[in-house]
Amino acid sequence: MKLSVDKNGFYGEFGGAFIPEMLHDNITELQCKYKSIITSYEYQKLYKKLLKNYVGRPTPLFFCEKYSNQYNAKIYLKREDLNHTGSHKINNAIGQVLLAKKLGKRKIIAETGAGQHGVATATICALMHLECIIFMGEIDMQRQYSNVIRMKILGAEVIPVISGNKTLKDAVNESIRYWINHPDSYYLIGSTVGPHPYPQMVADIQSIISEEIKMQLEKIEGSSSPNYVIACIGGGSNAAGSFYHFLDDDSVKLLAVEASGLGIKTKNTAASIHCGSKGILHGSMTFILQNKEGQILPAYSISPGLDYPGVGPMFSHLYIKKRVRFLHSTDEEALQAGYELTRSEGIIPALESAHALAALKKIKFCEKDIVVITLSGRGDKDINIYDKFFIKFSNYESNT
Ligand SMILES: *Cc1c(COP(=O)(O)O)cnc(C)c1O
Repeated sequence: MKLSVDKNGFYGEFGGAFIPEMLHDNITELQCKYKSIITSYEYQKLYKKLLKNYVGRPTPLFFCEKYSNQYNAKIYLKREDLNHTGSHKINNAIGQVLLAKKLGKRKIIAETGAGQHGVATATICALMHLECIIFMGEIDMQRQYSNVIRMKILGAEVIPVISGNKTLKDAVNESIRYWINHPDSYYLIGSTVGPHPYPQMVADIQSIISEEIKMQLEKIEGSSSPNYVIACIGGGSNAAGSFYHFLDDDSVKLLAVEASGLGIKTKNTAASIHCGSKGILHGSMTFILQNKEGQILPAYSISPGLDYPGVGPMFSHLYIKKRVRFLHSTDEEALQAGYELTRSEGIIPALESAHALAALKKIKFCEKDIVVITLSGRGDKDINIYDKFFIKFSNYESNT
């Protein structure tokens, strides 16, 4: 399996566990125990049961007739937007909370940017009656206020982070600081980032996405291998889940779409592979946005779930090995693509997912190509942003 990680947590030259000594015991415990726990029969039975009855899995694989005609290929959407709480984040939150319980932890801490991971975590903690503390940048709290309310109603304590740029990167730093002082808590990371074993563990848990895609395609198309799988990438969890079971199948082209904000030639971007370089962020070696002195640069994207100044280490490796091709979409392209999906299929996508949809215009398909795009989340949280651009949308229409 190409995603396999070595015993020190490296994917080729990327990954590892660059952590303060105070976290050593916690990280070592996870490294030693997580795999045997999450592959155990008892865990899997509980995990699958919750995914089915609580989250609503399997999520549908929806054939888009109009898109297929428009792009001259068979285009399917993997509907992660239909999950309970509105995105793929819940798969990971459930998976890790079950693990935390097995490890005997009663208190869950998590960082959140857009709030989707915070809401997913607060949701499962409510279900399992666990204490839940969410760290969120003060700026993000203002931008995503409805998610702050959701977390509070669910019973989580939301701690505003006022250091740095007051966004996701700073919330991660604050969570790590808290974890060092409270080693009895479980730190639930929301993407394929952080020190080993988090990237691999989150990918393992999210691999349910490609497991289902394979089974569904086999039924519908008579073959479990599509020609393309396309996903947006922030830290990389929905992309990792969508690619996981196809990594060894070279007939499947894997495309990850970064958010380039105002463009890769500007400073207002979140495209860490296109614009970044090798460095250490949040405990792992990977591609990050940094200046010459190695200071982390702020990431920008209209989509709050994608403005992270790095990618999961496995993706840096898959990029160098040319197994995953990286594209990028700007704010403008994503907004337009989101609007087009809404009007052609009646699905308002999360702005994150809209970046993946925008990539359709950049690829030349063959008529028989089977294309799966992961729709990582629903757009309810983004309607104010869509609304702001509504006037522009009518211009798009008159241009086409
Ligand atoms: C968080 C989020 C993302 C980005 O995170 P990944 O770990 O890269 O998947 C994408 N889409 C939605 C809807 C999200 O909430």
